[in-house]
Parts: sequence; structure tokens; C-alpha cells
Amino acid sequence: MKVPLLDLKTHIAPIRPAIDAAIARVIDHGTFILGPEVTELEVALARYCQAGYAVGCASGSDAILLALMALGAGPGDRVIVPSFTFFSTASCVTRLGAIPIFVDIDPGTFLISPIAIERALERLAASERAKVKAIIPVHLFGQCADMDSILEISRDRNIPVVEDAAQAIGATYRGRAAGSMGEIGCISFFPSKNLGGFGDAGMVTTRDRGLSQRLSVLRAHGMQPKYYHGEVGINSRLDTIQAAILLAMLPHLDSWTEERRANAARYRELFGAARGLQLPVETGFGRHVYNQFTIRVPNRDSVKTSLGLTGIGCEVYYPVPLHMQECFARLGYKEGDLPASEAAARECLSIPIYPELTAEQQGAVVDAVLRHSAPAS
Ligand SMILES: *Cc1c(COP(=O)(O)O)cnc(C)c1O
Repeated sequence: MKVPLLDLKTHIAPIRPAIDAAIARVIDHGTFILGPEVTELEVALARYCQAGYAVGCASGSDAILLALMALGAGPGDRVIVPSFTFFSTASCVTRLGAIPIFVDIDPGTFLISPIAIERALERLAASERAKVKAIIPVHLFGQCADMDSILEISRDRNIPVVEDAAQAIGATYRGRAAGSMGEIGCISFFPSKNLGGFGDAGMVTTRDRGLSQRLSVLRAHGMQPKYYHGEVGINSRLDTIQAAILLAMLPHLDSWTEERRANAARYRELFGAARGLQLPVETGFGRHVYNQFTIRVPNRDSVKTSLGLTGIGCEVYYPVPLHMQECFARLGYKEGDLPASEAAARECLSIPIYPELTAEQQGAVVDAVLRHSAPAS
């Protein structure tokens, strides 16, 4: 049995008429840039994320870039980021001339370690510490980082927190929504995210009215009023057509999330106490929305190849921790600096978890993984 990693056709089919109608309405009214659907989605998302304000932008990557711009990060500043994450968590830092400080993760949950953040801050000279403009916890794979500990560091040291919630829309931490806890939250609507559009799109969320105003000016060239530029912004608007599509999808997000969670529970049953591989660890702090179901297998590369040959979709998120990326070599990190991130990059493997996955397909995935993973030594 073939099982794809993602099956967007099946995912979209039941709501296709509503999406077609939403697109047709946009074509009819013709306001393709910052049309009414953008505002409507901003209002809906601000509420969904318990944030107060939301500002649409062109991608999740731009959401992080805009967040750092709004907080005033610039040349020579420092920003604390995990090493085990998608590239844009850190590229947004360097695009502003600031310097990422990579810290390690908790090996069980893959989430940024608050202890590692504190140690990294302590290691800095006082003059450097004063330049730390933000901490960016990533709610990786759909589970919130340990926000209470991170917010405590943030308060003690007066450093704002930007949540990279690109993979975590709908996730909670002690009852609070992903994107509502830091100064700014960043959401992505990339097609493979839990709420995915038909192209690139993103959103920033914040509880601070002033920040929300600054973010909406920055996403439109720093222009206010029209053709007057108090500062240099970027062109990063959320297309009206994407907003319309996402609005048609939003009412279904919670049931999709529950299906993802049910699939995760079924994987746990099917894998049972299989030796030699580690299932994703839940922190117990809130709702994990399973954008990915990421297991750890010691012989990961051979398992990945074998699954590919069997027709089982899987992917390595992420094979190279960011402190080891060639483009960051000048920052001077070396192998062994962040051992938990390096081990995760060697052993992680994400298997299909999309909402429409059937029990039969999950059985086929589990059989294939167990057949090809080496028994524990
Ligand atoms: C997807 C993702 C991003 C970037 O979002 P885009 O919309 O693809 O630009 C940032 N951080 C993480 C953790 C992501 O998974």
C-alpha cells in the first residue's frame, strides 16, 4: 500500500465548492490587495489565537522578519534561536544584520531548552547581553515550547519573545494559545501547515495595539499616509485571494486538528512498546496539534530509503541543525557544540499524520517502519 506524506487533494475535496465560491467572490469584487477578506481573516485569527490583533503578511518567514523589524532588531544585535528548526527562524535574524545565538533543544520534545537559553545569556559579556533583542522559541512540529520558563527569563532580563508558531496554529500551553504568549506570534499558511493556503501566506499576532499598528505599516513599505515613508518597510501583504481561501478553511481547522491528534494516538497504539525507536514526547502542558509526527530511529537514513522504496512517504525535518549550516559557518560554531540538536538531526523522521490518513494506511506505515528499523542494541 502506498501512503503519501501529505494528501492535499483528498484534504481539499470536501470543501472545494466553498473555496471555489470564495475565490469567485474575490475575482468579482476585484480588490486583490488588502481586500475585505484580509481584514476578516485578521479579525478571525486574532480571536482564534487569543491575541487581540493580527496582521496578514506574505509568508511565515516574513512574519518573523516583520516581528524582528517591529522590535527594532538591527545590525550587531543578537537574537536567541534554537538550532533545530526550519531555516527562516534564523535567516530573518541575519537578514537584518543581527546575529543569531543558537541554543540547544530538549532531546525528548525537540523544543528549545529554557536552561540552554539562560546559559547562553550568562555566557555573554554584559555589553553583548544588552544587544539581545529577542528570544524566538519555536513551537516545533505543533507543540508549544515551555513558555512559562521562557517568559520568566524574558521578564527577568527584559528581552521580548517572538513565538515562531508557524507549525502550531491551534496549539495551547496551559490554556493559552500559540501566538498569544510572547510580544509577537508568527503563523505560516504554507500549504503543508495545519491551516494551509494555495501558496505562500502568513500572519503576525500580538496583544499590543501599538505593535500591531507598527506591523501593518511595516508590511506595506513603512508607508503612512500613502506615499509618505517614516521608515523603510517591506512589501509583504497577504493576498486577498489567499485570505478568502483560508477563511473558507478556518471553520474546519479544529476538526482537522482532532483528526491529527487521533492519528497520533493510533500510532502510539500501533507502535506499542516497539524497541529501538522513540515516539514523539508530549510535554503535558497543552494541546499538541501534530503538524508532524516525528519519531527517532538510530538507523534513520536506511529506514528513510526503505520506506521510500515501499511507497511510504516520509521526510527528514531537519537534516542539518542551523549552527552547522554552511551559510552560518562564519559564526564559528562547530560540531559537538549543540549535541541534542545534532542527534535529533541524525535520527528524526517524520511520517504521515495528515487528517484523512486511514487506520489501514497507518498500519502499513507502522509495519514498514518496524520492518526496517534496527532492533535496539
Ligand atoms: C514553515 C515554517 C516557517 C516559515 O513559514 P513560510 O510560510 O514557509 O515562510 C518558519 N518557521 C517554521 C518552524 C516553519 O515550520
